[in-house]
This record gives sequence, C-alpha cells and structure tokens, in this order.
Amino acid sequence: MKITSVDVTVFSYATHRVADSAGHSHPGAETQAKMALLTLDTDQGAQGYAFAPPEVIRPYIVSAYFRKVLLGQDPFDRERLWHDLVHWQRGSANQLTDRALAVAEQALWDLFGRQVNQPVYKLLGGFRDRIPAYASTMCGDELTGGLSTPEDYAQFAERLVARGYRAIKLHTWMPPVSFAPSPVMDVRACAAVREAVGPDIALMLDGYHWYSRSDALFIGRKLQKLGFTWFEEPMEEQSMASYAWLAQNLDIDVIGPESLSGKHHSRADWVKAGACDILRAGVAGVGGIGPCLKVAHLAESFGMDCEIHGNGAPNLAVVGAIRNCRWYERGLLHPFLDYEQPPAYLKSIVDPMDEQGWVHLPTLPGLGEDIDFGYIAAHTLSRE
Ligand code: MG
Repeated sequence: MKITSVDVTVFSYATHRVADSAGHSHPGAETQAKMALLTLDTDQGAQGYAFAPPEVIRPYIVSAYFRKVLLGQDPFDRERLWHDLVHWQRGSANQLTDRALAVAEQALWDLFGRQVNQPVYKLLGGFRDRIPAYASTMCGDELTGGLSTPEDYAQFAERLVARGYRAIKLHTWMPPVSFAPSPVMDVRACAAVREAVGPDIALMLDGYHWYSRSDALFIGRKLQKLGFTWFEEPMEEQSMASYAWLAQNLDIDVIGPESLSGKHHSRADWVKAGACDILRAGVAGVGGIGPCLKVAHLAESFGMDCEIHGNGAPNLAVVGAIRNCRWYERGLLHPFLDYEQPPAYLKSIVDPMDEQGWVHLPTLPGLGEDIDFGYIAAHTLSRE
C-alpha cells in the first residue's frame, strides 16, 4: 500500500471557549473557531485522519515536510516515517514542530486501525478497556460563580464528585488574573476542595508554571498536609536541577515534565537526575503516539508511573495500552461548560464516562473519533 495524497481541510465551528491574553481558555460568548483535518489517502482506498489547529499543519508544513516524507510510502511503516520526519526537524529552523509531527503520526495510526478494523489502543498493547478519569479544571478566572474563589472550586468539586469523578486536578489562577500568581490563594483553593470532598477523593495541583523554588516548596509542603496525590509543573521545566531539588525536598510526588521539549530523550535525563517521581508525556507534546509510548515504557522500566497529559483520542489510545498510568485526564472542565456535548465536527465524544468515573475506551476502528464528515464539508473554509 502507498500513500497517494496528504491534504488539509480547514473548517469553522462554534465554540464557547475564549483564550485570555496568556493563552488559557475560559468560558465565553459563542464565537466561530477554526479547526483543521489532516487526511491521508492510499492507492487501496484506506484513509487516516487527525485533527489539529490550522496553524500547526499550515500549508507550508504539509508541502515542505509531510508530502516529501509520506507520499509514495507504505503507511504501515510508522516508525520509519516518524524518524524520517524527525530528521527533517533538525534543519527546519523550528518550523516542523513536535506537535506537527504528532499530527502526521496520529493520522498514520488512525489509518492502520481503520484498515485492520481495530481500535488503536488494542494495536498499541491493549492493556485495558476502561480507566478512571480525573476531572481537570480550567485555570481560575474572575467570573462570578465561575472559578474565581476557593469556595467556587469547592462547590465545583462537589458537583464533579456527584458526577462520578474519584479524582480532581486543580488548575489555579495564572496571569492575567489580577491577583495571580499567588501561592497563598493556590493553597486556599486546595484546602477548600479537600474540605469539600473529604479524604477519599484523589486531588492534584497544577499551579502557576514559573514559581520560584521557595514558593514551590511552600505550596508542596501544604499539599502534603492536605493529602494531595501529586504536584505538577510549579516551576520552569527547562531547569531540571530545580525539579531534582524540589523532588528531594518533598514527600509528595512531583510529576513532570509536561511542556519540556526533547521527546523521550529529555525524559530519560529527568529519570536519571531524580527530577520527578512520576513521569509525564502527552502525544502532542512529545511528537506522537510512538514517542509517548516510549516514555511510558521508560518509566515502567524504572518502576515509575507515567501519567499521560491531556484528553482526546490519541492520549486515550495510549492510556488504554499501558499499565503504569492511573488516570485519564478529562477536561478542561468549568461550571459554565458542558464537557459531555461533542464539538460540531464529531457525532459523539470520544471519552464518555460512566457514573462511577470510568472512561470507556472507544470501540470504533482507528483512533475512535466519530467524525461528522457532512458537517466538515458544509463548513469548509479551505482545502490544500
Ligand atoms: Mg499540566
């Protein structure tokens, strides 16, 4: 089988999410947003798909890298094609990003699954058919009744537990929120949530990402007393030494790195340096499903868990294929938004959760996204 075309369709859809001046999403009035669908076609009719923000797979990326590497190749040779794309990264002056790499590789996995009529998580390893979710909140805001006070977080946490979640991760306040960053407010929110949900719900904190060592230590010690499960990305991840220092000074599990570049290579260095207790990787951040699995297997080899960053079909496929991950990150969630409602370009959500907090892995062949091709055709803005 040979890949015969690599195309991107950009289309519009309605959203109630707005990004603030630092890029964090919050609820807002309905606006039109853009999404892109990468489509791989083959000479035998097999197809693979992956969604991405249009700027990640803009026309230059598709013509300069994707088509050069993929056209005429066997789509089942995922590892070789991934390495060929990685080779192009070195001379691309940072144009070919890990995120773009992940989108191309994701479409190859989707194509493989559709062609052999199996869900991708089964092809990757097939460890389980369901996984507990943790509710991952949006960042704090200054919306009345939203996530603007510790009491707001506590009330929302009670709703999340009633919905079935057995674990909750707080993203607290970050600039441009007027009083952020504030270690004291972060701790207040964490204490209010612990008070509201009791001792049996697992809690985690993902706070402001550029705290000093002193602020991170202050927060971490409070989280230990509150019985939190992990402490995520309080500091700049480029400083591995700071994380090694923090992990040494805290009993609570320090998790990372999430946003650091370097794919599985940089994560191996973190293990060697003792810079985290739990490893972290997401498909988009490390350049694909393949490298994300490599991180998880690396962690397993060192007796560590690897918690997968982010929601969505490719991350769900990875958590379904590995043993050393306790939860699926479901979110981002906010009291004003309905996560259970699929975006207009999907017929159903990929990660339905039952009343006991289990997310069931998709059974559709490929990555399991129930794509509404009719909607996309009717709302297409461009096709390259
Ligand atoms: Mg995070």
